[in-house]
Amino acid sequence: MPELPEVETIVRDIRPALLGRTFAKVSLSHDDVLRGVTRRRLIRRLTGAKVVDVFRRAKHAVIDFGDHRLIVQPGMTGSLVVHRHALDREQAKYAVLRVLLDNRRELVYDDVRRLGTLLLLDRLGWARYTAAIGPEPLDPGFTPERLGEALGKSRQAVKKVIMDQKYLAGVGNIYANEALFAAGIDPSKPAGKLKPEDHRRLHAEIRRILQAAIASNGTTVRDYRTGTGDEGSFQLELLVYGREGEPCRRCGTRLAGTHAIDARTTVFCHRCQS
Ligand SMILES: [Zn+2]
Repeated sequence: MPELPEVETIVRDIRPALLGRTFAKVSLSHDDVLRGVTRRRLIRRLTGAKVVDVFRRAKHAVIDFGDHRLIVQPGMTGSLVVHRHALDREQAKYAVLRVLLDNRRELVYDDVRRLGTLLLLDRLGWARYTAAIGPEPLDPGFTPERLGEALGKSRQAVKKVIMDQKYLAGVGNIYANEALFAAGIDPSKPAGKLKPEDHRRLHAEIRRILQAAIASNGTTVRDYRTGTGDEGSFQLELLVYGREGEPCRRCGTRLAGTHAIDARTTVFCHRCQS
């Protein structure tokens, strides 16, 4: 699933094309991506709505119309692109949400497997929704102490805690693996056992890696595309994710892989991480 850097890239790409534009025509191919809203209501509320802001929160792209907000959480096979020209038949094949803008450009949420979700919330609904998500790791208010507070309360594996959106926004499997390797921390270590110096290192590495990934327009392992339909390039800089069985770039030891922590693939170095 696209994580913070990928959704940030999408938002940076589509924002200039959407700001101030009106949704002239809205269509939806399938209802199964909707959460808490019917197709009828979604189309009624979006048609004629004017975009006042576009921003990211956690792994969501948020399109703000003032009194309500469309929240898109792209799935593993999801992309959100503003097309300059009408879609051809091949491009339209997996388009789930299609929005014709008042300048004839088209905003399209495309999702082959439809694992992404669309929500429509009013101001109060949004306030509740965002309050349930943890701090943004790139915000100045996110400090090593704040990370330490979240970790200190938990007996769960540190990797699980930093991927839990209640405690930290936007970090998923790729960046959790990378940050823990860079910080030299064993992903299975109980979060509460980390020391303040570990909090400082992990905090610094989470931020450094997310920023570097944004600078590379995110990580394209398979389907992820930017808001202009291009691939990201951070996959070239990954040190552990997807490298199980390959030599550690730091010490040469074979990287280990496990599914025991959270049923996702965790890759780590026995020697560099403790
Ligand atoms: Zn190593």
